[in-house]
Amino acid sequence: MTELIIKNGFVFDPINKVNGEKMDIAIRNGKIVEKVTRKAQVIDAAGLTVMPGAVDIHTHIAGGEVNTGRMVRPEDHIKDAVSKTATTRSGTGYSIPSTFVTGYRYSQMGYTTVMNPSMAPLEAKHTHEELNDVPLLDKATYPLLGDWWFVLENLAKGNIEECARHVAWMMDITKGYAIKIVNPGGLESWGFGHNVHSIDDQVPNFCITPREIMVGLAKVNAMLNLPHSIHLHTNNLGLPGNYTTTLDSMKALESVPYNGKPVAHITHLQFASFGGDGWGNMKSAAEEVSSYINAHSHMTFDMGQVIFTDTTTMTADGPFEFTLYQLSGHKWVNSDVETETSGGIIPFHYKKNNAVNAKQWSIGLELALLIKDPWKMFLSTDHPNGGPFFAYPRVLAWLYSKKAREATLKHCHKKAQRASLLPSIDREMSLYEIAIMTRAGQAKALGLPNKGQLGVGADADVAIYAINPETIDIATKYKTARRAFKHAAYTIKDGKIVVKDGEVVGQAEGRTMWLDVQTKQPCIIDDEMKSKFKQYWTVDYENYPVSDHYVKVKDPIIVKASV
Ligand SMILES: [Zn+2]
Repeated sequence: MTELIIKNGFVFDPINKVNGEKMDIAIRNGKIVEKVTRKAQVIDAAGLTVMPGAVDIHTHIAGGEVNTGRMVRPEDHIKDAVSKTATTRSGTGYSIPSTFVTGYRYSQMGYTTVMNPSMAPLEAKHTHEELNDVPLLDKATYPLLGDWWFVLENLAKGNIEECARHVAWMMDITKGYAIKIVNPGGLESWGFGHNVHSIDDQVPNFCITPREIMVGLAKVNAMLNLPHSIHLHTNNLGLPGNYTTTLDSMKALESVPYNGKPVAHITHLQFASFGGDGWGNMKSAAEEVSSYINAHSHMTFDMGQVIFTDTTTMTADGPFEFTLYQLSGHKWVNSDVETETSGGIIPFHYKKNNAVNAKQWSIGLELALLIKDPWKMFLSTDHPNGGPFFAYPRVLAWLYSKKAREATLKHCHKKAQRASLLPSIDREMSLYEIAIMTRAGQAKALGLPNKGQLGVGADADVAIYAINPETIDIATKYKTARRAFKHAAYTIKDGKIVVKDGEVVGQAEGRTMWLDVQTKQPCIIDDEMKSKFKQYWTVDYENYPVSDHYVKVKDPIIVKASV
């Protein structure tokens, strides 16, 4: 029996409505408990902030794109080589860290759960091998299903129930956690050198539109009772004027029955909130997008905040990466995954003195600050697309302090300074709101009841930061917060101290969570389907599934479907 008690910290636990109260958190055998014996190890958290371990709903840390990205970016190795210590292994960092460094750096910031949001089903085995390699974190991964042929065929026929059974089968054989949709219809079109440009464009050969894919899969998601909603990267992402497509998508999803549980999560919203009609007059549409979101409750979002640094973009949105290549002329990879999805990778340096980049930086923060409810909008950089995840403490400082935003804005391109809405926004997020948008809200949107909270029975994943809310100096609070969020005083994973004073001091393996979706009727794998694998895939049906030995966790999360 291992016991731990965290004494006298200022606790921020929004799921249990605890807002900075001084209290003790007791831990036994990896779970939060009511109380412990006198033999328990004591952490004196007096004067410190205690939060549940942080949760990241969207970060590219494993799989085909990530690994190709590592090969494309030898610069990362030169810039940020990481030496081993007595506890940790060596690796490389920066925009696409190696597996070990990914685990260490997240843990050093107080993170305990992260979600890998983009996995081609064909690359699922590799993705799981890499996830198994990432220490100190619980993980899960979302298979890309929005342009998967069987999904398109069933939805085009209007056969939602059959589509649902196929998706249940896909979750099982890819050991996945949520339905990921990227540029719906656009990836299939890209196989023929085209793209879709509105949610009502036709997808070649399938007689279906992006609207029908999004709405169809949201209905499938509800039928299957999946813990998370559909996870959506919208059409026209990254293009001037795309906010109208984003609004069209959100409105289209109003047609999905809403019973208090969000029907969709739109990811990296910043990249989907551009006004203007060309790069010359590209501008923020944060006001239009946030006012719609403030008036509706059927969706959640994450920021996709831009950081001024050299990073690597990677997405299944092949046509978008081609556009980025045309804009930058940088080295570039595009790939097409047979019958499933596409992908692209291109290095990108966001610069303060580039008007478009600086506007993007402003848009991300404008959205987060204008969306009133922190349970709707979560912290992310779409790592590494907007910037590497280790820059999160900088984003938190900008959300926490107007002064921090002003200090960065004054170095931005003049056009971006003039256009920015930030000077007109006085909001500074509280530690309670930060706890929502970095853990409680994300865990709730993901349907992870044991994460993002410190109630009795929850997983003992805890972060402790050197912030004293009673004595913090208002004038320099953002510097204090940035330092504290970068180097957690303690990170506790499954009841074990793994980080102390910002250094990794302990080991914890971390698990990969996956869903076993139990349908009333099984998905029918008939000879016709098997013959399609022979015809269109390079992998036979029998060799396609991720078998159990690829995942460390043998007990999946059981989900009872209604179909
Ligand atoms: Zn992404």
